[in-house]
Amino acid sequence: MPETTSQQKFVYDFTEGNKDLKDLLGGKGANLAEMTNLGLPVPPGFTITTEACKVYLDSGSEPTALRDEVSAHLEALEKRMGKKLGQADDPLLVSVRSGAKFSMPGMMDTVLNIGLSDASVAGLAAQAGDERFAWDSYRRLIQMFGKTVLGVDGELFEEALDEAKRAKGVTTDVDLDAADLKRLVEDFKATVAKETGRDFPQEPREQMDLAIRAVFDSWNGDRAKLYRRQERIPGDLGTAVNICSMVFGNLGPDSGTGVAFTRDPASGHQGVYGDYLQNAQGEDVVAGIRNTVPLADLERIDKASYAQLMQIMETLETHYKDLCDIEFTIERGKLWMLQTRVGKRTAGAAFRIATQLVDQGLIDEAEALQRVTGAQLAQLMFPRFDEKAKTDLLGRGIAASPGAAVGKAVFDSYTAVKWSRSGEKVILIRRETNPDDLDGMIASEGILTSRGGKTSHAAVVARGMGKTCVCGAEELEVDTKRRRMTAPGGIVIEEGEVVSIDGSTGKVYRGEVPVVPSPVVEYFEGRADGAAEDADELVKAVHRVMTYADGGRRLQVRANADNAEDAARARRFGAQGIGLCRTEHMFLGERREMVERLILADHEDERDEALKALLPLQKSDFVELFEAMDGLPVTVRLLDPPLHEFLPDITDLSVRVALAEARHEPHENELRLLQAVHKLHEQNPMLGLRGVRLGLVIPGLFAMQVRAIAEAAAERRNAGGDPHAEIMIPLVGTVQELEIVREEAERVIAEVEQATGTDLGLTLGTMIELPRAALTAGQIAEAAEFFSFGTNDLTQTVWGFSRDDVEASFFTAYLEKGIFGVSPFETIDRDGVGSLVRAAAEAGRATRPDLKLGVCGEHGGDPDSVHFFHEVGLDYVSCSPFRIPVARLEAGRAAALGKGGSDSR
Ligand code: PEP
Ligand code: MG
Repeated sequence: MPETTSQQKFVYDFTEGNKDLKDLLGGKGANLAEMTNLGLPVPPGFTITTEACKVYLDSGSEPTALRDEVSAHLEALEKRMGKKLGQADDPLLVSVRSGAKFSMPGMMDTVLNIGLSDASVAGLAAQAGDERFAWDSYRRLIQMFGKTVLGVDGELFEEALDEAKRAKGVTTDVDLDAADLKRLVEDFKATVAKETGRDFPQEPREQMDLAIRAVFDSWNGDRAKLYRRQERIPGDLGTAVNICSMVFGNLGPDSGTGVAFTRDPASGHQGVYGDYLQNAQGEDVVAGIRNTVPLADLERIDKASYAQLMQIMETLETHYKDLCDIEFTIERGKLWMLQTRVGKRTAGAAFRIATQLVDQGLIDEAEALQRVTGAQLAQLMFPRFDEKAKTDLLGRGIAASPGAAVGKAVFDSYTAVKWSRSGEKVILIRRETNPDDLDGMIASEGILTSRGGKTSHAAVVARGMGKTCVCGAEELEVDTKRRRMTAPGGIVIEEGEVVSIDGSTGKVYRGEVPVVPSPVVEYFEGRADGAAEDADELVKAVHRVMTYADGGRRLQVRANADNAEDAARARRFGAQGIGLCRTEHMFLGERREMVERLILADHEDERDEALKALLPLQKSDFVELFEAMDGLPVTVRLLDPPLHEFLPDITDLSVRVALAEARHEPHENELRLLQAVHKLHEQNPMLGLRGVRLGLVIPGLFAMQVRAIAEAAAERRNAGGDPHAEIMIPLVGTVQELEIVREEAERVIAEVEQATGTDLGLTLGTMIELPRAALTAGQIAEAAEFFSFGTNDLTQTVWGFSRDDVEASFFTAYLEKGIFGVSPFETIDRDGVGSLVRAAAEAGRATRPDLKLGVCGEHGGDPDSVHFFHEVGLDYVSCSPFRIPVARLEAGRAAALGKGGSDSR
């Protein structure tokens, strides 16, 4: 529970904070303070800290000091504005907005127009000279407050609003006059009283306090929790609350509200990007409910404000040294900045912007590496639609979040989730999305909306998730009730029909459009030159960033590969060796029978026969691998899995034997097999006869594998190659196991060296994948020249989680309960598994200072885990070939962080 001390300060005026106080003031609060201090026109206000929220969430009540501090800041604000909150003749109105450290668009609550009441609505009307405006503002307050603070079903207000329009025979809110809105206010108040058993609070301070509490509570709302899990935002950060004096964009045609980006968030190009909505308030633009005009049109509408905005945008970009996004309001010709932050961007734009900023001299290479992530690079490696394919274009919208998505059309989130659970790929099609659609968006391949611009809810959230999104496709008429969409020319797409959407061009197609590899993959494959003058702009940027990463990283990156084809790809992708060749993959297919013979062998001779037959096959596998990786290290792991994996399934076999018996057919072989399967059957095979234990109880097995490796290396060497094989023993728990295997291996290697007249320079090491191995790493290092952390098994054994079962069975519950934010099989559990890795690395190196250390579990290609392995001083990570670029980039980012680059996440 967070400590509260008498000195702790829970409220900061906008003039007191700065952009580096995001932990305390949230992103929005910190940036409002930064803009205030830059002298930009920010409406005055103050921020309640995340610490106050944490106290509230932990104890169920606000810290005692909060009330007085809020009073003091409110008083100062009132003095500055020359009016009091809710003052009857001229009310000060405020907005109460959430703002966490990390942006969570639309996930938490906001209440506008706090301070309006039966008493002050007339005062506002008189001050604004606009009665309709005042009643509309009051109506909005009761609606927002009723829904978010008092928990009234929002539909009730929407229905009353629709009813008022119907009664008057009009279609838009704007057509309702002051008298209509006044009646609506009475209706809304009655709804509040009926639904909550209390009157809508008339006391302004009470309104404010309740709204603050609602914002605190919204941190733990379902939507917010789901979003945090998706985005891996910790659940204990809490939100700040910003209290800001209201400015109005809905005071007539000389007012309005808009959003802007200092660069195009989709391409990174500099220019004027954004949307503007005349005579509108706050959330109207982001909600995508009414259609906006491009920001460039503001120059025509209000030249002076436009010019000022352009200047402010330049100031902000130079100050933040990054793409900023902005929310602003114009109140009767006066420009106000409501928010800025370093803007979300597409993966491609992130790479382009990073290199553009280096070229502009605003940031250095180490900083450029912090402006991109491995996850973004992974996104760029997704395929795209084939430009040459024959397509059936339905229409076009705004390219809001890139990618090529194909799936069946669904028109509501419930269906999206349901269908995707049964394995269907779906495209969620909505008129516009709202935060309640989050589940459906997560379940879909892509999102298509017919309304809203680049900053609509659908666009912002999809970009954040890395999902393909086309929005504002106005020519497509979406009918959610009848579950269909109509394209120009009357073409109807019913629910379940396949559509393809292109988030890079905004095009929407009927049917499935074939996809082609991404240009970034072409580059990694060596088929596109990233340094060439005429290279694709994105490829050029990726190439430059990868060059920065490779130039600075300390961690080497190897591949998990067990055939020449994967090895060759890994090499093209930049692998510096193979960190794990799983030899069990070489024992499958046609060779399984030979393994069967080995397992069934009753006599030494039979066993030797079986091993003899396997030897040349194994050897040729290694020759190919060493050739593909010539000059680079190749770590070959001796056989690891339990033997039953090479035998037929026990039930199938029992049926076969029973059938053969019934038909009196010969079945001696099947019977022997069945007996062997029974003998090898284990309750917990993962903890049974596998790894080094196999080598110790099946005579000749490891010796055969070592011989195959040594002979293959000798053959390569004699053919002029440069093989660097490393022999790795799996699942070692004690140094004695390793010593026995080592002795035998050394004898075999010496024999091969003598017979072939070569010095093979083979090294022998072990996996560290059992807790006992990690705990006795100092002893094990006496018999090992290298350690490779098998973090898959280590996670399994440290947690006692069966890796093949738990993710499907109960991890969802664990994630929901917040026991962990991400599966420990995906990202290394730093505190548990990680601390064993750290201790084992230290103990190993204490015994053998030149001990080589690597990791070959799945974590080797996971961005967060790569940072951890860098920190604990491993020499390399090893991962599947496709993850190599991500691991290279993250290794570079981790090294750059140590050299002064800032962690910009
Ligand atoms: C591991 O346990 O981390 C490992 C790489 O081995 P495997 O996944 O083959 O058990
Ligand atoms: Mg393992």
